[in-house]
Amino acid sequence: MSRDMMSAFELYQPDTVEGAVELLGRFGAEGWALAGGNDSFDWFKDRVKRPKYVVDLSGIAALRGIRETPDGGVEIGALTTLTEIERSSTIQGRYKVLSDAARRVASPQIRNAGTIGGNVAQDARCWYYRYGVDCYRAGGNTCYADTPEGQNREHCLWGADRCVAVSPSDTAPALVALDATMVILGPQGSREVKAEEFFIGPDIDIERMTVLEPGDVLTAIRLPAEWSGARFYFEKVADRNTWDFPLVNIAAAMVVNGQTIEKIRLAAGAVQCVPRRLTVVEEVVTGQPKSAETAQLAGQSAVRGATPLNFNHFKVPLLQNLVTRAIRDA
Ligand SMILES: Cc1cc2nc3c(=O)[nH]c(=O)nc-3n(C[C@H](O)[C@H](O)[C@H](O)COP(=O)(O)OP(=O)(O)OC[C@H]3O[C@@H](n4cnc5c(N)ncnc54)[C@H](O)[C@@H]3O)c2cc1C
Ligand code: SF4
Repeated sequence: MSRDMMSAFELYQPDTVEGAVELLGRFGAEGWALAGGNDSFDWFKDRVKRPKYVVDLSGIAALRGIRETPDGGVEIGALTTLTEIERSSTIQGRYKVLSDAARRVASPQIRNAGTIGGNVAQDARCWYYRYGVDCYRAGGNTCYADTPEGQNREHCLWGADRCVAVSPSDTAPALVALDATMVILGPQGSREVKAEEFFIGPDIDIERMTVLEPGDVLTAIRLPAEWSGARFYFEKVADRNTWDFPLVNIAAAMVVNGQTIEKIRLAAGAVQCVPRRLTVVEEVVTGQPKSAETAQLAGQSAVRGATPLNFNHFKVPLLQNLVTRAIRDA
């Protein structure tokens, strides 16, 4: 594959979602939805992805903004920037786990252009795949990361199925913890998918990380009233404190009655190909006192069944400690 020139593409700039869906449906696998461009232009400039048709969503006003909904929840347009989410008084006041997660993405410049839709729809960050090698995820028949010498310190603890890449998004676990709903418009009409089901692993489709198919546009993300104003916790550990992807992150939403944990949702990023909902921890701590002992127990239960690769054993105690802190400090 020649890498001398960035491939030319035809650019379309619709001003309605319906127009975008019509175009993307027509172009199928040869089309590409463009949001803030952080990830898209990396792929194009590295000559690894070469769509013939690019549909720029940035001129569609209906896809932007944060609005309160009649059922007491909040709807975020998919083209809303991470900076807007980080700074929104509504999100800070009612769903702080999401504004905290958005604040920890990359750098201010990337958050200014990067959208929440692009952040959850971004592709795997495995460096082999990014370099354009013919691994399983790229349609080939090997995984370069899952070998004795493979560079896999960023890779998964669970869910390996030929591919061992992880979900790299910081906002994704926050959306799973909040039990968000993803609203999608596609050639067959509109549908709603829970955040937990929006992300898919290699066992379902090794070439995609979400349920989005060619022609689909993620239009909005809905946060339910149920978790508005709950206690929250978000923490991310990365090699560097800015401009870097999570080694592990944790997002929790919790309701505490007196000293008792009444209900909780917890999800970790960068440990599996999807944000990993920690249902075992939820079961262990629900109905228990919010104490140091419960937090310790939660951390221990979070890592049961983890299967590290050669160079990512450090993620096991890291996840354990993050879960312990989430229960203790939320
Ligand atoms: C140097 C660097 C560091 C980064 N660090 C982090 C980090 O620490 N944490 C983190 O979470 N992320 C990180 N990122 C990823 C970054 O957050 C995403 O690249 C960015 O948020 C993507 O948003 P965008 O609007 O620019 O999307 P684009 O780049 O335009 O699109 C990304 C993908 O999503 C698809 N897409 C976008 N919007 C829609 C939609 N509405 N419907 C359907 N498909 C859509 C596009 O087709 C494309 O495949 C980093 C990126 C870079 C370049
Ligand atoms: S981990 Fe996945 S993306 Fe990375 S080389 Fe292996 S198959 Fe490819």
